[in-house]
Amino acid sequence: MLAELLAALGPAGCLTGDRVAEAARSDASRSGQTLPLALLRPSSVAEVSAALEICHRHGQPVVPQGGMTGLAGGANPRSDDVALSLARFAGVEEIDPDAGTMLLRAGTVLERAQEVAAEAGFLLPIDLGARGSCQIGGNIATNAGGLRVIRHGMTRDNLLGIEAVLADGRVVSSLGRMVKNNTGYDLRHLFCGSEGSLGVITRAVIRLRPLPEARQTALCALSSYRAVLTLLDMARKTLTVSAFEAMWQDYFAFNQQIARLSLFANPPPFAVILEAEGAGLEPLLEQAFEAGVIDDALVAQSQTDARRFWEVREGHAMETALPGLINLDISLPVARLDDFAQACRAGLRARFPDAHVSFYGHVGDSNLHVAVALADNAEDGGHEVDRIAYDLVRGFGGSISAEHGIGTLKRDWLGHSRSPVELAVMRQIKAALDPKGILNPGKLLPA
Ligand SMILES: Cc1cc2nc3c(=O)[nH]c(=O)nc-3n(C[C@H](O)[C@H](O)[C@H](O)COP(=O)(O)OP(=O)(O)OC[C@H]3O[C@@H](n4cnc5c(N)ncnc54)[C@H](O)[C@@H]3O)c2cc1C
Repeated sequence: MLAELLAALGPAGCLTGDRVAEAARSDASRSGQTLPLALLRPSSVAEVSAALEICHRHGQPVVPQGGMTGLAGGANPRSDDVALSLARFAGVEEIDPDAGTMLLRAGTVLERAQEVAAEAGFLLPIDLGARGSCQIGGNIATNAGGLRVIRHGMTRDNLLGIEAVLADGRVVSSLGRMVKNNTGYDLRHLFCGSEGSLGVITRAVIRLRPLPEARQTALCALSSYRAVLTLLDMARKTLTVSAFEAMWQDYFAFNQQIARLSLFANPPPFAVILEAEGAGLEPLLEQAFEAGVIDDALVAQSQTDARRFWEVREGHAMETALPGLINLDISLPVARLDDFAQACRAGLRARFPDAHVSFYGHVGDSNLHVAVALADNAEDGGHEVDRIAYDLVRGFGGSISAEHGIGTLKRDWLGHSRSPVELAVMRQIKAALDPKGILNPGKLLPA
């Protein structure tokens, strides 16, 4: 089989042994342990197709790999898997300014695609912190969310067309540039979020948007979650909101301190970054202040000011300050985020009295992140944290994964958010498209 793959892809497209880079071992969750049997690096759709046809004939498991920035272990190989990287199949093939669309290859790094869109006078509306490494194919395979969901939706909402290679090597091409296309089952949405389990995405058509007007940013102090929801409602009615990020007091206080900033000397119960395109932010803040919705607000006067607000929100310094940090990504009906936070804090503290527990999230998208760091001596901590949090998520009718996907790390909890019938239908779809089960086995669907 390896000889066939080598003949089909050439020496640069089929690496084995020492030639397989360490980076093929694990995604950004750092949960991968093993190098794959081989790393395939096809440079065309025809080569992806040839590689999959060979693997399919031999019953060889294949793990698609993008930029390896995933946080769910979805791209991690086992020792007898073949990894298939799209890195050599990159680049923007076409921008259609009339349709406002971009046709690009799956291996294109997101940031590069954003730059090409901007050079043509457009905004590529998908954006996330991993933009410098993640690939558009990976973004589609995980239906990535990120920073602009409140304004432009998830990756799925910006996807107009897709091309994918099936497990047996057949190429399914649905590269439509039209917004309206009601011609039967929508295959784009089948592959979007499928985490490499239904096909290898090779190309896509993304909908572009006009470049945004200048953004204004404010950091608001609020005394209750009800006030947070009222501010969100007011902002949505009067502004073009491009971010609405809430930090619970525990998260804001911790991150403000480690960032050595003093934005609010007394950390409020809730701090919200409100960002809007165009005018109108300051009048809205005045109105909210007069109505008693916000207690205080700082309006960024410069990019540096805005970056300071975001520095606290992004909390990059937490990784160093809290080794072994666990970051849960869940979603719930927006009105219940604080009820969940209170219950989750109480549940975790009861089991791990010395743990760091804090909450923040893209509240406008009903997405909550839970940051947990256990004391060194906590045994089997990770699993217990998952159990406490995901049991509560189930009780609140939420989702155990808002945007990071399932991979291996959440696979065994999928039944907390999906019914037995939903899981059975997913398995039927998987069996129809990949009857030999060679695509990313062991990921997404519980055994
Ligand atoms: C600093 C940082 C910030 C992040 N912020 C966000 C965020 O705000 N929102 C968010 O949603 N995620 C975020 N992530 C997670 C991650 O960046 C996204 O999940 C991203 O979409 C993964 O893209 P990738 O190319 O790195 O995919 P990989 O990690 O390589 O793969 C992810 C999954 O997609 C599959 N896959 C990859 N390429 C293909 C393909 N061409 N065809 C079929 N399957 C494929 C893999 O098998 C795997 O299951 C962040 C990660 C980091 C490290």
